[in-house]
Amino acid sequence: MSSTKHTRLATRAIHGHTTGDAYGSPYPPVYNTTTFGFDSTADLLEVIDGRRRGGLYTRYGLNPTIQAVEETLAGLESAEAAWVFSSGMAALSALFLTHGRKGIVCVGDAYGGTLELLEQQLPGLGLRTHCILGSESDRLDALLADGIGMVFFETPTNPTLDIVNIRALAERAHAHGALVAIDNTFASPVNQRPLELGADIVMHSATKYLGGHSDLTAGALMASKELLEPIQAWRKNLGTVPSPETAALLSRSLRTLVVRVRQHNANAQAVAEAMARHPKIARVHYPGLPDAPGHALAKAQMDGFGGMLSIVVRGDGADATRVADRLRLIKLAPSLGGVESLVTQPCTTTHHGIAPEERARRGIPDSMLRLSIGIEDADDLIADLVQALGD
Ligand code: PLP
Repeated sequence: MSSTKHTRLATRAIHGHTTGDAYGSPYPPVYNTTTFGFDSTADLLEVIDGRRRGGLYTRYGLNPTIQAVEETLAGLESAEAAWVFSSGMAALSALFLTHGRKGIVCVGDAYGGTLELLEQQLPGLGLRTHCILGSESDRLDALLADGIGMVFFETPTNPTLDIVNIRALAERAHAHGALVAIDNTFASPVNQRPLELGADIVMHSATKYLGGHSDLTAGALMASKELLEPIQAWRKNLGTVPSPETAALLSRSLRTLVVRVRQHNANAQAVAEAMARHPKIARVHYPGLPDAPGHALAKAQMDGFGGMLSIVVRGDGADATRVADRLRLIKLAPSLGGVESLVTQPCTTTHHGIAPEERARRGIPDSMLRLSIGIEDADDLIADLVQALGD
């Protein structure tokens, strides 16, 4: 980490890298090169053997633009190091392929792509994987006692916004020697830093809040150097490093991460409160509401409640579809974390591939809409929802 190590998050988001250039640019230039030249073989070996930081070959991640964003990301998650990937799924794949050999248990709801990777693809490679509900405590105990190597989870969860106790689950897993990895995409490091609460590895779809403008696809892992080191070979040989342009765009986005996320938090709170009062809404899932089941825990382990919430429309799936289709400002699109507000109906997008009975078991009715609240004027967002809900 750079000299900003002891500064606060908003400062680290802007000054958290040491990469400069000969002209004194305040931010890392885009080194759009695939390879870097050396004065001598001795100099080249300094970089290859890790004695000097420098550019070597972009696919290895040894490119100053990529190294700069990694340094900033490490600082944001209070990690020793960070690596960026070409997508969140690339980061997850490298994580599971490296540290999942002794089995992986995913606790609670997770992104549909993550569940597909765990349930349908990794077992084909001989990896033992289990996806259990947050309430299946006995199953978790049995898997831990059986020596499962990794406990993986999201918090807040998608799309029910349940809150998982990071410190408690980390202690339970560590007592059995299991690693704890958390997908921190929904919260962002502004609202939650799992490594400070005992987790071992943090993963992000940087496509979401870290990128923040729905204009880049990237992923990241943050952890100790010891845990990240063996992951490097997978990123290098699968070739899943982002381009220097994407790394630069992500660096640019991180400079406004703190102000953006604070506004996402404020807007989501206002929308959640308005929806909780609306007669056509049966239920609002948002940890910032005082009567939400995870409110007290969220208050304890998070610095903000986030920009994501789900509403359950009175009626059936078709009623919720009508509301989604009538929204004008809030766009129907399957992503989250951008400055613009988006809506999805989990049963038609993120959880479409999951059987209806399994969706019901996970507490995801067809009448649920998931909202990614952006940083527009909150009153305009509420007005859009109210007009879409109709009289
Ligand atoms: N994790 C979460 C919580 C997500 O929402 C997503 C994508 O929607 C991913 C991981 C995968 O990220 P990406 O689309 O960048 O591969």
